[in-house]
Amino acid sequence: MRFDDTAVAFAHRSDRELRRARWMFGLIGAPLLVRLGSRLLRLAVSLRLPIGWAVGPVFDYFCGGEDIEDSRSTSERLHQFGVKTILDYSAEGQTGEAALDAARDEILATIHAAEGDPRFAFAVFKVSALSDNDLLEEKGQGNRLSSEREAAWQRVEDRVSTLCREAADRRVRIMIDAEETWLQDAIDDLAEAMMRKHNRDRCVVFTTAQLYRHDRLAYTQGLEDRAREEGWIAGVKLVRGAYMEKERQRAAEQGLPSPIQPDKAATDRDFNAAIDFALDRLDHLNIVCGTHNEASTARLADGMTDRGVDPSDVRVAFAQLLGMSDNLSFNLAHRGYTAAKYVPYGPLREAIPYLIRRAEENTSVGGQTSRELSLIRTELARRKG
Ligand SMILES: Cc1cc2nc3c(=O)[nH]c(=O)nc-3n(C[C@H](O)[C@H](O)[C@H](O)COP(=O)(O)OP(=O)(O)OC[C@H]3O[C@@H](n4cnc5c(N)ncnc54)[C@H](O)[C@@H]3O)c2cc1C
Repeated sequence: MRFDDTAVAFAHRSDRELRRARWMFGLIGAPLLVRLGSRLLRLAVSLRLPIGWAVGPVFDYFCGGEDIEDSRSTSERLHQFGVKTILDYSAEGQTGEAALDAARDEILATIHAAEGDPRFAFAVFKVSALSDNDLLEEKGQGNRLSSEREAAWQRVEDRVSTLCREAADRRVRIMIDAEETWLQDAIDDLAEAMMRKHNRDRCVVFTTAQLYRHDRLAYTQGLEDRAREEGWIAGVKLVRGAYMEKERQRAAEQGLPSPIQPDKAATDRDFNAAIDFALDRLDHLNIVCGTHNEASTARLADGMTDRGVDPSDVRVAFAQLLGMSDNLSFNLAHRGYTAAKYVPYGPLREAIPYLIRRAEENTSVGGQTSRELSLIRTELARRKG
């Protein structure tokens, strides 16, 4: 399958929006500017200076809005072209029980928004939005917790259980994001318990496997094994992984072997192997392919065709981030595949770390035009005729 039809990819964007996007991707394509801009932004946020005028256009491109209501027009526009929404409440680094409960309530609101609404594909959450990171790390180490910490952990489990139960009751599929390795052991245990409980007749809860970890292909295979033997369905979002630098640095600092693959080729090999593995076992392993990589996306789409799996089969979905790789999402949806966008939302100020990550991802390497910019240029040239 090919994804170079930019007319389909950008049918949802006006000429004016595309010209604005060309300008924005041109700016964030300059590494020096992004480095300097990121520092200035972080400083402006810490000094509580007004920043809306500077980041407004970037926020509008990569985020749905400041709240669920604000994001509805984005979902509607995606839906007109067959692309579904995954509302992503982007709370990062919350602490204190009240803030963690508030995050749970906000995620509950995303489940309620998605209930029975064909514009939405999944709900999603990060366990770190529902727990202090220190507690996740301590729990993952398997040590005995103090009674106070054990009570706090019980509250984390309750928040996760509430979300998954609500999703199951309202027939909304829900994904649990993957995070840093030192938080992930505790997340894995919670996610597997939720899948075992709710994924009996259909796949409601999806965990996430980061294939940049050298142990995650085997982990995915193990999940499928247990699901088949015990009579449930494993749901796995396959991603390459977002925290490579951090992981390598921490392992080096602690003198431990890196959990990350030796090189990109090894990550690609395991990612594609996980796709093939799942395709042959869809009865007990449902997948969401969370990637902007064209080759992996084509491998899954073509693999479905080869095995006679219908594009609309609910056991397979594709997902990209809003504002990224529209050529994949919209071309997939155009051909009847389930394609969805993470639509992050939240107060503009709190979206800054997310926006900086998007800018860094789109900064040109070795002077090359970013993938997004070259697609936008192609489409503008095509429209000009
Ligand atoms: C819908 C969606 C959901 C996501 N959810 C999560 C999540 O829950 N948790 C999470 O961690 N990330 C998540 N991500 C981000 C994802 O993990 C990747 O960081 C991002 O998508 C880039 O990878 P790619 O497959 O799109 O593309 P590519 O550009 O092909 O791959 C880039 C990725 O390859 C890996 N890589 C690059 N260089 C090397 C190297 N030298 N050695 C080894 N590996 C290397 C890294 O993971 C890097 O991010 C999500 C992404 C999407 C689209």
